[in-house]
Amino acid sequence: MASLKENLRAVRARIDAAARAAGRDPGSVALLAVSKTWPAADVRALAALGQRDFGENRVQELLDKAAELADAGPRWHFVGQLQRNKAAAVARTGAVVHSLDRQPLATTLDRAGQEGGHPVDVLIQVDLGGPAGEVAARGGARPADVPALADAVAGAAGLRLRGLMAVAPRGADPRPAFDRLADLAGRVRADHPEAVDISAGMSGDLADAVAAGATIVRVGTALFGERPLPCGEFEEHQPRESQQ
Ligand SMILES: *Cc1c(COP(=O)(O)O)cnc(C)c1O
Repeated sequence: MASLKENLRAVRARIDAAARAAGRDPGSVALLAVSKTWPAADVRALAALGQRDFGENRVQELLDKAAELADAGPRWHFVGQLQRNKAAAVARTGAVVHSLDRQPLATTLDRAGQEGGHPVDVLIQVDLGGPAGEVAARGGARPADVPALADAVAGAAGLRLRGLMAVAPRGADPRPAFDRLADLAGRVRADHPEAVDISAGMSGDLADAVAAGATIVRVGTALFGERPLPCGEFEEHQPRESQQ
């Protein structure tokens, strides 16, 4: 608990310093605590310290924690690869989905949002490519496909377009990649002014993301510590649902 409190303070200070250095209002950057692999008790402790937003990358773990912590009132975000047959369950938790990356998933989430009576908040995940421009396999739609997907999301009654999300390419300077994401987000926002969010930056690269314009940083390790178990990081180790 003491270290969670200190970690939260330190992460918030890093975000605030990066925002000020970029001439931005620190209040314009939200902290999303990625609690994957950590017990519900840690989420509860961090929520008691005032942290509101929590992210998970596995559906079952999200469902379990959402049920266990219903009284603690966290706002959930889903940041992992999402299969269509689990999309409705995620929607029922009220989670913001950061990983919408293809039209069929949008169709399924749209239906879930309409049936549930309130739209599902979504961010479109963008594949920023690898160091040499190859497909990064960290998930996401190709940048060229993002505008059409954004149009579809914005036109869906059961969805609400919040913006774009990405993970920086491994082994490359994250800053140019985050700048490309921000540029694409600006173009999407020109057509869809409600799409204000850029979800980018993790424990190791949050300052670069904030400098590039991130409005949501997703932080796990710097808050909770090194993860005790492998957690299917970014899902490239899991069988990927075929693109339908
Ligand atoms: C695990 C995860 C994070 C947090 O990463 P850390 O390096 O632990 O801060 C952020 N985004 C996604 C999509 C993740 O899966």
